[in-house]
Amino acid sequence: MPMTLNPKATRKILRQWGHLGLLGHGVPREWLGHGNTFAELVRHHEKTGRACHDPGLILALNAHLWGALFPVLRFGNGHQKRQWLPELVTGSLIGGHAITEPGAGSNPADMQTRAESDGNGFRLNGHKRYITNAPIADVIIVYAYLQQKLSAFVLVHGDPGFHTNTEHPVMACQNAPMGEVFLEDCRLPAERLLGKPGAGLMMIQSALEWERAFLFAGIAGAMQWQLDQIIEHSRQRQTGGGHLGRHQAISHRIADMATRLDTIRFWLKECARLADAGKKITLVSAQTKLVASEAFLQSTLDAVHILGAKGLETSSGMSEWLNDAASGRLFSGSSEIQKNLIAALLGTGEGYRPK
Ligand SMILES: Cc1cc2nc3c(=O)[nH]c(=O)nc-3n(C[C@H](O)[C@H](O)[C@H](O)COP(=O)(O)OP(=O)(O)OC[C@H]3O[C@@H](n4cnc5c(N)ncnc54)[C@H](O)[C@@H]3O)c2cc1C
Repeated sequence: MPMTLNPKATRKILRQWGHLGLLGHGVPREWLGHGNTFAELVRHHEKTGRACHDPGLILALNAHLWGALFPVLRFGNGHQKRQWLPELVTGSLIGGHAITEPGAGSNPADMQTRAESDGNGFRLNGHKRYITNAPIADVIIVYAYLQQKLSAFVLVHGDPGFHTNTEHPVMACQNAPMGEVFLEDCRLPAERLLGKPGAGLMMIQSALEWERAFLFAGIAGAMQWQLDQIIEHSRQRQTGGGHLGRHQAISHRIADMATRLDTIRFWLKECARLADAGKKITLVSAQTKLVASEAFLQSTLDAVHILGAKGLETSSGMSEWLNDAASGRLFSGSSEIQKNLIAALLGTGEGYRPK
């Protein structure tokens, strides 16, 4: 059962994963990646999730990859890539991204953080919260309005006016260190602008799209571990002279857990297939996030129920997963936001205006 680690321990694990090559899947060889497919990334993440069975560590891994590493790979210029990519791939640098603010959650366009041109560079002011990896990150991609245009900036630990804390206000994913980001007249050189001015919203959508597509690969591994525990418990636990799993009400829940898990795997496979073919993943990643996060929560409820009161003992760890799974419906865009997006891509819903 995962123990609650201090943020430094999570950082150490991410670094070790980097040294073992886990952060290099889907990354070209010239940047020290494996030059392999997203199908391979899914396979390795699932293996890792099964071994660590810690949703918090999996979230920290994904915040690093989709929040920082891949945005630098996709939108960075040559200088920015040379400066940060090799170390992000080997885990010498840890990253994350800061979008959410007290007044801007589901709708990032509401954000208040501002950047002003300042002679040779920029000056940033604002406040971000619920930022995964903030307490341990060397590099954070921060989104801010630059003359009414949402834009992205690379913030580096130690930049003047850039502070983080270790505020982890949510009781979920404890081993994904969380914190606030404060920008107080934070001065940045011009070369810290990532991508074009005004490209920020597209870059947020892109980062979240990739995170939604692949975050649940690691979680699927953890869910396999969860299923194994429950099957074992259903065989070992005796009730009324027989094993617990002989009750159809129990075995059907287990069958549902297994079917949900395999459904997540089919969606992950489809995301990888489209990504490897260079096709758009906007729709499929929203569908995957929606199906997978709802499945994770329902299967965790089933697991706790099958374990009985033991499932709510802190030592079983399964009760913590309830909060982790509830947070899975919120981070990277809530289930409602995925449905809005899916409906919009079908040409209907909130954003549709009849002609
Ligand atoms: C564990 C965890 C890790 C996180 N890590 C990061 C991170 O690394 N970086 C980062 O920037 N943020 C991070 N977040 C923040 C996360 O992205 C937000 O919590 C999320 O976007 C929802 O915003 P909110 O919490 O402000 O909820 P709100 O936006 O206030 O939404 C509240 C409720 O209203 C619903 N709702 C809102 N708008 C609509 C709508 N248009 N239609 C239908 N329903 C709607 C939502 O679905 C939700 O149920 C993290 C959050 C958690 C829990």
